[in-house]
Amino acid sequence: MADMTGKCACGGVTWRSAGPVLWAGHCHCDSCRRASSAAMVSFFGVPREGVIWTGEIAERPSSNGVRRGFCPACGTQLYYQADKWPAETHLYATTLDDPAQFEPQAHYHWAERLPWLAVTDDLPRYSGSADDGEPI
Ligand SMILES: [Zn+2]
Ligand SMILES: [Zn+2]
Repeated sequence: MADMTGKCACGGVTWRSAGPVLWAGHCHCDSCRRASSAAMVSFFGVPREGVIWTGEIAERPSSNGVRRGFCPACGTQLYYQADKWPAETHLYATTLDDPAQFEPQAHYHWAERLPWLAVTDDLPRYSGSADDGEPI
């Protein structure tokens, strides 16, 4: 597979990853939603040590043991890293140079979804994260 590449809105930050994609899905949690000002946020996980970044990145602690990286120039959210998953970086799928490459496999934190967001796919829906139990 060719490397996946991505960038922020202003192009000041770029990333490259050879993968593999460990998981891919949509997060409906309040924290992701507020960080991105979006109704839901699409992510995929890759091995953290394999991601090559260029440009200046700012980070903020999002919740306990969680850091969100973003471009300080344009504000684009770039990654989510949690102490809980030390070997993974979760990349925001819409930062892909070709976001159509993204192949979502599930919805996460379905219990927190917005009532006005109509989701018509038949992907599995997890109440929380995949570690919290089987799909509902
Ligand atoms: Zn930027
Ligand atoms: Zn989330």
